[in-house]
Amino acid sequence: MHTVLLGPPGAGKGTQAERLKVRLGLVHIAMGNLLREVVKKKTSLGEKARAFMEEGKLVPDSVILELLKNEIEFEKKGFILDGFPRNLSQARKLDELLDKEAEKLDLVINLEVKEAVLIERLKGRLICSECGRVYHKSNIDGPSKTCKDCGAPLLQRNDDNSDIIKKRIEVYLEHTHPLIDYYRKKGILRNVQGEGTSEEVFQRIMEKAVSYKL
Ligand code: ADP
Ligand code: ZN
Repeated sequence: MHTVLLGPPGAGKGTQAERLKVRLGLVHIAMGNLLREVVKKKTSLGEKARAFMEEGKLVPDSVILELLKNEIEFEKKGFILDGFPRNLSQARKLDELLDKEAEKLDLVINLEVKEAVLIERLKGRLICSECGRVYHKSNIDGPSKTCKDCGAPLLQRNDDNSDIIKKRIEVYLEHTHPLIDYYRKKGILRNVQGEGTSEEVFQRIMEKAVSYKL
């Protein structure tokens, strides 16, 4: 099963992909996480990506594809892609890669969330520096900004500030939103209302995934 999670920044792609991974036993490939890793390690790919990410722009396809190449595993049961593809040329490239392996994309889940909600989620988002668990400022009790799971400090992502959030949403609308039409025409798009609790959204996704045929 090869799945893509589509949606604007803050739609909950990463959170839902992790849940799907556990439920369906698939590999989760999160392009944003792969990028943040190489930026942290200061590899040559990381150095190429850093400035684009800081500005909320798309990282050039050449860098993205280089990272993806090492990750996509066709032998396993399948994958959930989150944060890839983000433009039409990446979507075509993915089709090409799958084609070569005589595989295809089975399902694209499009998470729909209003802009005001996205901004509110991203502005208040805190992430555990060790395990990556996501929190929101409004749900943290007391002043101790540490993770309930592992005790590590919670940090705000560099690009989760108002100006860059606005930029990321603009970039999404211009480059990524057209993919909705691309996948609708292929007949594999399923829209899912992405507001509400993480559990509610997960139930909606599972309904679509099951009715799709697993
Ligand atoms: P979000 O979906 O919240 O914006 P991500 O962690 O998926 O966050 O991505 C963070 C940043 O990484 C993006 O703003 C962009 O700069 C870069 N990025 C991630 N995926 C891609 C991609 N497929 N193509 C180009 N740039 C990407
Ligand atoms: Zn943690």
